[in-house]
Amino acid sequence: MLDLAIIGGGPAGLTAGLYATRGGLENVVMYEKGMPGGQITLSSEVENYPGICEPVSGIELMECWPKQAMRFGLKYEMDEVKRVRKGEEGFVVELASGKEQEAKSVIIATGSTPKRAGFEGEEEFLGKGISTCATCDGFFYKDQEVAVLGGGDTALEEALYLAKIASKVYLIHRRDKFRAAPTTVKKVLENPKIELILNATVVKAYGDERGLQGIIIDQQGRRIDLKVPGLFVFVGMKVNNEVLKQADGSFLCRVNQWGEVVVDLRMRTSVPGLYAAGDIRQDAPKQVVCAAADGATAAIDAIGYVERGGE
Ligand code: FAD
Ligand code: NAP
Repeated sequence: MLDLAIIGGGPAGLTAGLYATRGGLENVVMYEKGMPGGQITLSSEVENYPGICEPVSGIELMECWPKQAMRFGLKYEMDEVKRVRKGEEGFVVELASGKEQEAKSVIIATGSTPKRAGFEGEEEFLGKGISTCATCDGFFYKDQEVAVLGGGDTALEEALYLAKIASKVYLIHRRDKFRAAPTTVKKVLENPKIELILNATVVKAYGDERGLQGIIIDQQGRRIDLKVPGLFVFVGMKVNNEVLKQADGSFLCRVNQWGEVVVDLRMRTSVPGLYAAGDIRQDAPKQVVCAAADGATAAIDAIGYVERGGE
Protein backbone atom coordinates (compact mmCIF):
# COMPACT_ATOMS: atom_id res chain seq x y z
CA MET A 1 0.00 0.00 0.00
CA LEU A 2 1.31 3.47 -0.91
CA ASP A 3 1.76 6.09 1.80
CA LEU A 4 0.49 8.70 -0.64
CA ALA A 5 -0.91 8.74 -4.17
CA ILE A 6 -0.79 12.08 -5.98
CA ILE A 7 -3.18 12.47 -8.91
CA GLY A 8 -1.88 14.97 -11.47
CA GLY A 9 1.61 16.19 -12.28
CA GLY A 10 1.18 19.96 -12.64
CA PRO A 11 2.64 22.55 -10.26
CA ALA A 12 0.42 21.34 -7.37
CA GLY A 13 1.13 17.61 -7.82
CA LEU A 14 4.86 18.02 -8.38
CA THR A 15 5.27 20.26 -5.35
CA ALA A 16 3.21 17.87 -3.23
CA GLY A 17 5.55 15.07 -4.36
CA LEU A 18 8.63 17.11 -3.53
CA TYR A 19 7.43 17.99 -0.02
CA ALA A 20 6.02 14.54 0.78
CA THR A 21 9.19 12.64 -0.16
CA ARG A 22 11.63 15.21 1.21
CA GLY A 23 9.51 15.28 4.37
CA GLY A 24 9.93 11.56 5.00
CA LEU A 25 7.18 9.62 3.16
CA GLU A 26 8.85 6.78 1.29
CA ASN A 27 6.20 5.22 -0.83
CA VAL A 28 4.78 8.06 -2.92
CA VAL A 29 3.58 7.78 -6.52
CA MET A 30 2.43 10.64 -8.74
CA TYR A 31 0.04 9.57 -11.51
CA GLU A 32 0.05 11.83 -14.57
CA LYS A 33 -1.76 10.99 -17.77
CA GLY A 34 0.70 12.95 -19.94
CA MET A 35 4.05 14.57 -19.38
CA PRO A 36 4.48 16.28 -16.00
CA GLY A 37 4.24 20.08 -16.07
CA GLY A 38 0.52 20.81 -16.22
CA GLN A 39 -1.41 23.44 -18.14
CA ILE A 40 1.20 26.18 -17.66
CA THR A 41 3.21 24.42 -20.37
CA LEU A 42 0.57 25.83 -22.76
CA SER A 43 1.64 29.36 -21.86
CA SER A 44 4.01 31.25 -24.09
CA GLU A 45 5.17 33.66 -21.43
CA VAL A 46 5.19 33.58 -17.64
CA GLU A 47 6.44 36.60 -15.77
CA ASN A 48 4.69 36.41 -12.40
CA TYR A 49 6.30 33.34 -10.86
CA PRO A 50 8.55 34.60 -8.03
CA GLY A 51 12.28 34.45 -8.69
CA ILE A 52 11.98 34.74 -12.46
CA CYS A 53 13.97 37.84 -13.52
CA GLU A 54 12.96 37.65 -17.18
CA PRO A 55 9.79 36.15 -18.73
CA VAL A 56 10.09 32.46 -19.60
CA SER A 57 7.81 30.07 -21.48
CA GLY A 58 5.71 27.67 -19.42
CA ILE A 59 7.77 24.75 -20.72
CA GLU A 60 10.99 26.43 -19.56
CA LEU A 61 9.45 27.23 -16.16
CA MET A 62 8.50 23.60 -15.53
CA GLU A 63 11.62 21.97 -16.97
CA CYS A 64 13.35 21.22 -13.64
CA TRP A 65 10.29 20.55 -11.46
CA PRO A 66 9.96 16.78 -12.11
CA LYS A 67 13.72 16.26 -11.80
CA GLN A 68 13.82 18.12 -8.49
CA ALA A 69 10.85 16.20 -7.06
CA MET A 70 12.20 12.82 -8.13
CA ARG A 71 15.57 13.49 -6.45
CA PHE A 72 13.89 12.77 -3.13
CA GLY A 73 12.23 9.53 -4.19
CA LEU A 74 8.96 10.56 -5.84
CA LYS A 75 7.87 7.90 -8.33
CA TYR A 76 6.01 8.93 -11.48
CA GLU A 77 3.68 6.66 -13.40
CA MET A 78 2.27 7.78 -16.71
CA ASP A 79 -1.32 6.61 -16.38
CA GLU A 80 -4.76 8.16 -16.23
CA VAL A 81 -6.65 7.83 -12.98
CA LYS A 82 -10.25 6.87 -13.65
CA ARG A 83 -11.53 7.05 -10.09
CA VAL A 84 -10.51 7.29 -6.44
CA ARG A 85 -12.75 5.43 -3.99
CA LYS A 86 -12.67 4.50 -0.33
CA GLY A 87 -11.01 1.16 0.40
CA GLU A 88 -11.20 -1.09 3.45
CA GLU A 89 -8.19 0.84 4.70
CA GLY A 90 -7.47 4.17 3.06
CA PHE A 91 -8.22 4.61 -0.64
CA VAL A 92 -8.21 2.71 -3.92
CA VAL A 93 -6.90 4.41 -7.06
CA GLU A 94 -8.42 2.94 -10.23
CA LEU A 95 -6.18 3.38 -13.26
CA ALA A 96 -7.03 3.42 -16.97
CA SER A 97 -4.50 0.62 -17.48
CA GLY A 98 -6.82 -1.59 -15.40
CA LYS A 99 -4.58 -1.64 -12.33
CA GLU A 100 -5.88 -0.75 -8.86
CA GLN A 101 -3.57 0.74 -6.25
CA GLU A 102 -4.24 1.14 -2.55
CA ALA A 103 -2.99 4.25 -0.75
CA LYS A 104 -3.19 5.50 2.82
CA SER A 105 -3.71 9.09 1.64
CA VAL A 106 -4.42 10.81 -1.67
CA ILE A 107 -3.83 14.34 -3.01
CA ILE A 108 -6.06 15.29 -5.92
CA ALA A 109 -4.18 17.78 -8.13
CA THR A 110 -5.89 17.24 -11.48
CA GLY A 111 -6.19 20.95 -12.28
CA SER A 112 -8.40 22.27 -15.02
CA THR A 113 -8.72 22.14 -18.83
CA PRO A 114 -9.79 24.72 -21.46
CA LYS A 115 -13.56 25.10 -21.95
CA ARG A 116 -15.25 25.07 -25.32
CA ALA A 117 -17.19 28.19 -26.36
CA GLY A 118 -19.96 26.12 -27.94
CA PHE A 119 -20.30 27.64 -31.45
CA GLU A 120 -21.07 25.66 -34.60
CA GLY A 121 -17.97 24.03 -36.13
CA GLU A 122 -15.83 24.39 -32.99
CA GLU A 123 -15.28 20.65 -32.55
CA GLU A 124 -15.00 20.05 -36.30
CA PHE A 125 -12.09 22.49 -36.73
CA LEU A 126 -10.36 21.89 -33.40
CA GLY A 127 -6.76 21.10 -34.32
CA LYS A 128 -7.50 22.18 -37.92
CA GLY A 129 -7.39 25.93 -37.41
CA ILE A 130 -9.02 26.19 -34.00
CA SER A 131 -6.60 26.01 -31.10
CA THR A 132 -6.45 26.47 -27.32
CA CYS A 133 -2.66 26.88 -27.22
CA ALA A 134 -0.86 29.83 -28.80
CA THR A 135 2.61 28.52 -27.90
CA CYS A 136 1.84 25.23 -29.65
CA ASP A 137 0.11 26.54 -32.78
CA GLY A 138 0.87 30.27 -33.09
CA PHE A 139 3.79 29.80 -35.45
CA PHE A 140 1.54 28.17 -38.09
CA TYR A 141 0.08 31.64 -38.66
CA LYS A 142 3.29 33.60 -39.14
CA ASP A 143 2.50 36.83 -41.03
CA GLN A 144 -1.18 35.84 -41.35
CA GLU A 145 -4.28 37.23 -39.65
CA VAL A 146 -5.72 35.32 -36.67
CA ALA A 147 -8.55 35.75 -34.19
CA VAL A 148 -8.69 35.25 -30.43
CA LEU A 149 -11.92 34.67 -28.50
CA GLY A 150 -12.23 35.64 -24.81
CA GLY A 151 -11.65 38.53 -22.42
CA GLY A 152 -9.71 37.00 -19.51
CA ASP A 153 -5.98 36.92 -18.70
CA THR A 154 -5.34 33.98 -20.99
CA ALA A 155 -7.04 35.50 -24.05
CA LEU A 156 -5.30 38.85 -23.68
CA GLU A 157 -1.86 37.47 -22.86
CA GLU A 158 -2.02 35.04 -25.74
CA ALA A 159 -3.30 37.78 -28.10
CA LEU A 160 -0.16 39.78 -27.19
CA TYR A 161 2.00 36.74 -27.89
CA LEU A 162 0.27 36.07 -31.22
CA ALA A 163 0.70 39.72 -32.23
CA LYS A 164 4.46 39.08 -32.34
CA ILE A 165 3.97 36.33 -34.94
CA ALA A 166 0.79 37.12 -36.88
CA SER A 167 0.29 40.14 -39.14
CA LYS A 168 -2.88 41.04 -37.22
CA VAL A 169 -4.89 39.72 -34.27
CA TYR A 170 -8.64 40.25 -33.95
CA LEU A 171 -9.62 40.03 -30.29
CA ILE A 172 -13.29 39.08 -29.98
CA HIS A 173 -14.97 39.56 -26.60
CA ARG A 174 -18.63 39.30 -25.65
CA ARG A 175 -18.58 42.46 -23.46
CA ASP A 176 -16.81 45.83 -23.62
CA LYS A 177 -14.99 45.28 -20.28
CA PHE A 178 -12.17 42.81 -19.86
CA ARG A 179 -11.68 40.61 -16.81
CA ALA A 180 -7.90 40.39 -17.45
CA ALA A 181 -5.42 42.26 -15.23
CA PRO A 182 -5.38 46.05 -15.95
CA THR A 183 -1.67 45.99 -16.95
CA THR A 184 -2.41 43.33 -19.56
CA VAL A 185 -5.46 45.25 -20.85
CA LYS A 186 -3.26 48.36 -21.23
CA LYS A 187 -0.69 46.43 -23.29
CA VAL A 188 -3.43 45.09 -25.55
CA LEU A 189 -5.00 48.51 -26.07
CA GLU A 190 -1.57 49.97 -26.96
CA ASN A 191 -0.69 47.19 -29.41
CA PRO A 192 -1.25 48.43 -32.99
CA LYS A 193 -1.51 44.86 -34.33
CA ILE A 194 -4.52 43.99 -32.14
CA GLU A 195 -7.99 45.03 -33.31
CA LEU A 196 -10.84 44.70 -30.83
CA ILE A 197 -14.23 43.32 -31.82
CA LEU A 198 -16.32 43.93 -28.71
CA ASN A 199 -19.86 43.02 -27.64
CA ALA A 200 -19.49 40.18 -30.09
CA THR A 201 -19.13 36.44 -30.22
CA VAL A 202 -18.30 33.72 -32.69
CA VAL A 203 -21.38 31.89 -33.92
CA LYS A 204 -19.85 29.65 -36.56
CA ALA A 205 -16.53 28.38 -37.86
CA TYR A 206 -16.37 27.27 -41.47
CA GLY A 207 -13.85 25.70 -43.80
CA ASP A 208 -13.10 22.66 -45.86
CA GLU A 209 -10.74 19.69 -45.89
CA ARG A 210 -7.75 22.08 -45.77
CA GLY A 211 -8.99 23.40 -42.42
CA LEU A 212 -10.56 26.58 -41.09
CA GLN A 213 -11.29 29.26 -43.67
CA GLY A 214 -13.13 31.79 -41.54
CA ILE A 215 -15.55 32.58 -38.74
CA ILE A 216 -18.94 34.23 -38.52
CA ILE A 217 -19.24 36.76 -35.71
CA ASP A 218 -22.42 38.19 -34.28
CA GLN A 219 -21.94 41.74 -33.02
CA GLN A 220 -25.22 42.86 -31.49
CA GLY A 221 -27.18 41.53 -34.44
CA ARG A 222 -24.60 42.55 -37.04
CA ARG A 223 -23.03 39.62 -38.88
CA ILE A 224 -19.29 39.80 -39.60
CA ASP A 225 -17.57 37.28 -41.86
CA LEU A 226 -13.90 37.19 -40.81
CA LYS A 227 -11.69 35.21 -43.17
CA VAL A 228 -9.00 33.91 -40.83
CA PRO A 229 -7.15 30.57 -40.99
CA GLY A 230 -6.63 30.50 -37.20
CA LEU A 231 -8.91 31.02 -34.20
CA PHE A 232 -7.63 30.74 -30.63
CA VAL A 233 -10.35 30.03 -28.07
CA PHE A 234 -9.63 31.09 -24.47
CA VAL A 235 -13.00 31.16 -22.71
CA GLY A 236 -12.07 29.82 -19.30
CA MET A 237 -11.28 26.55 -17.63
CA LYS A 238 -13.28 23.53 -16.36
CA VAL A 239 -12.16 21.72 -13.19
CA ASN A 240 -11.09 18.10 -13.66
CA ASN A 241 -13.10 16.47 -10.87
CA GLU A 242 -14.10 13.29 -12.73
CA VAL A 243 -11.78 11.12 -10.61
CA LEU A 244 -13.93 11.90 -7.57
CA LYS A 245 -17.17 10.69 -9.21
CA GLN A 246 -18.36 7.44 -7.65
CA ALA A 247 -20.27 4.60 -9.33
CA ASP A 248 -23.58 5.98 -7.95
CA GLY A 249 -22.90 9.48 -9.38
CA SER A 250 -22.03 11.10 -6.06
CA PHE A 251 -18.66 12.72 -5.32
CA LEU A 252 -16.19 11.09 -2.94
CA CYS A 253 -15.92 14.36 -1.00
CA ARG A 254 -17.75 17.68 -0.84
CA VAL A 255 -17.63 19.87 -3.96
CA ASN A 256 -19.23 23.30 -4.47
CA GLN A 257 -21.78 24.35 -7.12
CA TRP A 258 -19.00 24.65 -9.76
CA GLY A 259 -17.63 21.20 -8.96
CA GLU A 260 -14.58 22.62 -7.18
CA VAL A 261 -13.40 20.60 -4.18
CA VAL A 262 -14.19 22.15 -0.81
CA VAL A 263 -11.05 22.28 1.37
CA ASP A 264 -9.87 23.88 4.58
CA LEU A 265 -6.67 25.87 5.02
CA ARG A 266 -4.65 22.62 5.21
CA MET A 267 -6.14 21.47 1.89
CA ARG A 268 -8.09 18.73 3.72
CA THR A 269 -11.31 17.68 2.01
CA SER A 270 -14.41 16.45 3.84
CA VAL A 271 -12.87 12.93 3.86
CA PRO A 272 -9.90 12.34 6.23
CA GLY A 273 -6.71 11.49 4.34
CA LEU A 274 -8.00 12.97 1.08
CA TYR A 275 -6.60 16.35 -0.01
CA ALA A 276 -7.13 18.68 -2.97
CA ALA A 277 -4.54 21.16 -4.22
CA GLY A 278 -4.27 23.72 -7.03
CA ASP A 279 -6.90 24.72 -9.60
CA ILE A 280 -9.21 21.86 -8.58
CA ARG A 281 -10.00 23.36 -5.19
CA GLN A 282 -12.57 25.99 -4.28
CA ASP A 283 -11.49 29.65 -4.53
CA ALA A 284 -8.22 28.72 -6.25
CA PRO A 285 -6.49 31.88 -7.48
CA LYS A 286 -5.45 29.78 -10.52
CA GLN A 287 -1.80 30.73 -10.39
CA VAL A 288 1.27 28.51 -10.54
CA VAL A 289 2.63 29.91 -7.29
CA CYS A 290 -0.66 29.23 -5.49
CA ALA A 291 -0.98 25.71 -6.90
CA ALA A 292 2.57 24.94 -5.76
CA ALA A 293 1.85 26.33 -2.30
CA ASP A 294 -1.33 24.21 -2.07
CA GLY A 295 0.65 21.11 -3.00
CA ALA A 296 3.20 21.81 -0.26
CA THR A 297 0.46 22.50 2.30
CA ALA A 298 -1.41 19.29 1.44
CA ALA A 299 1.77 17.18 1.56
CA ILE A 300 2.81 18.56 4.94
CA ASP A 301 -0.56 17.62 6.40
CA ALA A 302 -0.57 14.22 4.66
CA ILE A 303 2.82 13.37 6.22
CA GLY A 304 1.34 13.91 9.68
CA TYR A 305 -1.80 11.97 8.78
CA VAL A 306 0.18 8.93 7.58
CA GLU A 307 2.64 9.09 10.49
CA ARG A 308 -0.27 9.12 12.97
CA GLY A 309 -1.60 5.99 11.30
CA GLY A 310 -4.56 7.67 9.60
CA GLU A 311 -5.79 9.69 12.56
P1 FAD B 1 -2.65 21.72 -13.85
O1 FAD B 1 -1.50 22.59 -14.23
O2 FAD B 1 -3.90 21.78 -14.65
O3 FAD B 1 -2.12 20.22 -13.78
C1 FAD B 1 -2.98 19.14 -13.61
C2 FAD B 1 -2.33 17.89 -14.19
O4 FAD B 1 -3.14 16.77 -13.86
C3 FAD B 1 -2.21 17.94 -15.71
O5 FAD B 1 -0.86 17.69 -16.07
C4 FAD B 1 -3.14 16.82 -16.18
O6 FAD B 1 -2.65 16.13 -17.32
C5 FAD B 1 -3.18 15.88 -14.97
N1 FAD B 1 -4.41 15.11 -14.87
C6 FAD B 1 -5.69 15.58 -14.92
N2 FAD B 1 -6.57 14.57 -14.74
C7 FAD B 1 -5.83 13.44 -14.57
C8 FAD B 1 -6.17 12.08 -14.34
N3 FAD B 1 -7.44 11.68 -14.27
N4 FAD B 1 -5.16 11.18 -14.23
C9 FAD B 1 -3.86 11.57 -14.31
N5 FAD B 1 -3.49 12.85 -14.53
C10 FAD B 1 -4.45 13.78 -14.66
N6 FAD B 1 -0.59 31.01 -13.94
C11 FAD B 1 0.37 31.87 -13.51
O7 FAD B 1 0.71 31.89 -12.34
N7 FAD B 1 0.99 32.70 -14.40
C12 FAD B 1 0.73 32.72 -15.72
O8 FAD B 1 1.32 33.49 -16.47
C13 FAD B 1 -0.25 31.81 -16.19
N8 FAD B 1 -0.52 31.74 -17.50
C14 FAD B 1 -1.38 30.79 -17.97
C15 FAD B 1 -1.56 30.67 -19.35
C16 FAD B 1 -2.40 29.70 -19.87
C17 FAD B 1 -2.54 29.56 -21.37
C18 FAD B 1 -3.11 28.85 -18.99
C19 FAD B 1 -4.02 27.79 -19.55
C20 FAD B 1 -2.95 28.98 -17.61
C21 FAD B 1 -2.08 29.93 -17.08
N9 FAD B 1 -1.87 30.09 -15.71
C22 FAD B 1 -0.92 30.96 -15.25
C23 FAD B 1 -2.59 29.27 -14.73
C24 FAD B 1 -1.71 28.05 -14.25
O9 FAD B 1 -1.24 27.33 -15.36
C25 FAD B 1 -2.55 27.13 -13.33
O10 FAD B 1 -3.08 27.86 -12.26
C26 FAD B 1 -1.69 25.98 -12.77
O11 FAD B 1 -1.06 25.25 -13.79
C27 FAD B 1 -2.55 25.03 -11.94
O12 FAD B 1 -1.75 23.97 -11.50
P2 FAD B 1 -2.38 22.57 -11.04
O13 FAD B 1 -1.21 21.71 -10.68
O14 FAD B 1 -3.44 22.80 -10.06
O15 FAD B 1 -3.12 21.98 -12.33
P1 NAP C 1 -11.55 33.45 -17.37
O1 NAP C 1 -10.84 34.42 -16.48
O2 NAP C 1 -12.66 32.64 -16.83
O3 NAP C 1 -12.04 34.26 -18.65
C1 NAP C 1 -12.82 33.64 -19.65
C2 NAP C 1 -13.23 34.69 -20.67
O4 NAP C 1 -13.96 34.05 -21.72
C3 NAP C 1 -14.12 35.77 -20.08
O5 NAP C 1 -13.75 37.02 -20.61
C4 NAP C 1 -15.51 35.34 -20.54
O6 NAP C 1 -16.36 36.44 -20.76
C5 NAP C 1 -15.23 34.67 -21.87
N1 NAP C 1 -16.20 33.63 -22.19
C6 NAP C 1 -16.63 32.61 -21.40
N2 NAP C 1 -17.48 31.79 -22.06
C7 NAP C 1 -17.60 32.31 -23.31
C8 NAP C 1 -18.33 31.89 -24.47
N3 NAP C 1 -19.08 30.80 -24.49
N4 NAP C 1 -18.21 32.66 -25.58
C9 NAP C 1 -17.45 33.77 -25.58
N5 NAP C 1 -16.72 34.21 -24.53
C10 NAP C 1 -16.79 33.47 -23.41
O7 NAP C 1 -10.50 32.36 -17.99
P2 NAP C 1 -8.94 32.45 -18.34
O8 NAP C 1 -8.61 33.72 -19.01
O9 NAP C 1 -8.60 31.15 -19.01
O10 NAP C 1 -8.25 32.44 -16.92
C11 NAP C 1 -8.47 31.32 -16.02
C12 NAP C 1 -7.77 31.62 -14.72
O11 NAP C 1 -6.33 31.57 -14.90
C13 NAP C 1 -8.11 33.02 -14.19
O12 NAP C 1 -8.23 32.97 -12.80
C14 NAP C 1 -6.90 33.83 -14.60
O13 NAP C 1 -6.68 34.96 -13.77
C15 NAP C 1 -5.74 32.80 -14.49
N6 NAP C 1 -4.65 33.19 -15.39
C16 NAP C 1 -3.72 34.03 -14.88
C17 NAP C 1 -2.69 34.49 -15.69
C18 NAP C 1 -1.69 35.41 -15.09
O14 NAP C 1 -1.68 35.57 -13.89
N7 NAP C 1 -0.83 36.03 -15.83
C19 NAP C 1 -2.66 34.12 -17.03
C20 NAP C 1 -3.64 33.29 -17.53
C21 NAP C 1 -4.66 32.83 -16.71
P3 NAP C 1 -16.91 37.35 -19.53
O15 NAP C 1 -15.74 38.22 -19.14
O16 NAP C 1 -18.02 38.09 -20.14
O17 NAP C 1 -17.32 36.38 -18.48
